[in-house]
Amino acid sequence: MQLENYIRDIQGFPKEGILFKDITPLLNDAKARKECLDTLVKSLKNQKIDKVVGAESRGFLFGILLAQELNAGFVPVRKPNKLPYETISASYDLEYGTDNLEIHIDAIQKGDKVLIHDDVLATGGTAKAVCELIEKLGGEIVQLNFLMELTFLNGREKIKEYDIFAAITY
Ligand code: IMP
Repeated sequence: MQLENYIRDIQGFPKEGILFKDITPLLNDAKARKECLDTLVKSLKNQKIDKVVGAESRGFLFGILLAQELNAGFVPVRKPNKLPYETISASYDLEYGTDNLEIHIDAIQKGDKVLIHDDVLATGGTAKAVCELIEKLGGEIVQLNFLMELTFLNGREKIKEYDIFAAITY
């Protein structure tokens, strides 16, 4: 099965000049979704994972599936002021300016083996900020995985010290 066939290109979303990779066809097909999940799980080669951390918001979707499959906890990383308990934050660059991501201070214990998941690796700014949060809390990053990597944006460069896996590359 070609997982690429379940990703839809949307020209000009969310604004002009952007080619958006839409994962909703993949979510909407039980077989393709399972195959994608299996591919991500296999890439871990049976390494133990205590926590799966998903980045808002599309990282929550397969993040939860991965956590269930790996018998691990799930931890959401969210945009500012969305998490109800005490948080720490890390900033990352946007096209214009910066934004922050937050995590609950008690979500990761020192020494936890952590898998980070997001739908797309683009410039790598989001992923780098998530790494920062986990390491601030003493977590050990085992792998970052993505449904898709947009290789022409060189996001890997920002997180090159970690193991990175993508089910689909463009
Ligand atoms: P980065 O920080 O530039 O690597 O961007 C990654 C973040 O932007 C991820 O959280 C993605 O959800 C989102 N993103 C960037 N490009 C796309 C896309 O084409 N489709 C869906 N999400 C995208």
